[in-house]
Amino acid sequence: MPPQTRKRFGQHWLKSEKVLHRILEAAEVSKRDRILEIGPGTGVLTQWLAALADAVVAVEIDRDLCKRLRSQFEKLDQFLLLEGDILRLDLADELADYPGFQPNKVVANIPYYITAPILEKLLGSITQPNPQPFEQIVLLIQREVADRLYAQPGSKVFGALSVRMQYLACCELICPVSAKAFQPPPKVESAVVRLRPRPFFPVALNPRLFDYLVQLGFSSRRKMLRNNLKAVVNREQLTSLLDSLDALPTIRAEDLSVEQWVRLSNKIQEAGADSYN
Ligand code: SAH
Repeated sequence: MPPQTRKRFGQHWLKSEKVLHRILEAAEVSKRDRILEIGPGTGVLTQWLAALADAVVAVEIDRDLCKRLRSQFEKLDQFLLLEGDILRLDLADELADYPGFQPNKVVANIPYYITAPILEKLLGSITQPNPQPFEQIVLLIQREVADRLYAQPGSKVFGALSVRMQYLACCELICPVSAKAFQPPPKVESAVVRLRPRPFFPVALNPRLFDYLVQLGFSSRRKMLRNNLKAVVNREQLTSLLDSLDALPTIRAEDLSVEQWVRLSNKIQEAGADSYN
């Protein structure tokens, strides 16, 4: 019997084998992989990862689940359990004494209440990308966030999160997942996504300025970009910059591609936005 769930830890046990296999397949787990799993819970995914990968590091906050996981997996020497909060743990420090466990991939059905900080922990941010990026990250997350990760310009949900994440990683939908795939079912729908961190071209010359422009640009979604950005660039200047990007002066933030965002930021930088250095 699966243990009682603790609501405050966002516990929903995955029960669909089909979804489990889609996750493993998407992550292309093999004997050359060392996997980081966040929130192993009862170990449904963990047992497969341990069988398929070279090594698994699992981080679990719930003390009772940790006891259970230890007794289930203690015989495996390629399994390491870290008890604690993924957001507070210094992974590099924890793993310094375990050279065989440096993870190259992340595979996890994560607790939804901390999705955004987990994404930032794994990818870093525009101004501070993770200096040791993972090869790939396969996550089961809530659908609403997933949709924003791989949204394309022009879509209603293409926003600052989409630009930030897509600058840091190639984001793909693997499959939608119904609430019925879990016990107990969460109140929201879910999806499996795959993120492949990579350097984005063109590179933002001034990441701080780029990040700030994205935040400002999407601050009022219904306004035109030129109104949202008027504190940084005046109307005429922006019109000519947009023109050089083949964009109309009346364009809104959500209609600019990630590449256009970076190029716009670089042009503003070159035009002498010294205050953002
Ligand atoms: N992977 C399991 C459980 C998913 S539920 C499955 O698919 O069935 C989310 C898991 O994350 C739970 O085990 C919960 O205890 C754990 N968790 C919640 N907050 C956490 C945190 N801050 N750090 C690490 N693990 C956490």
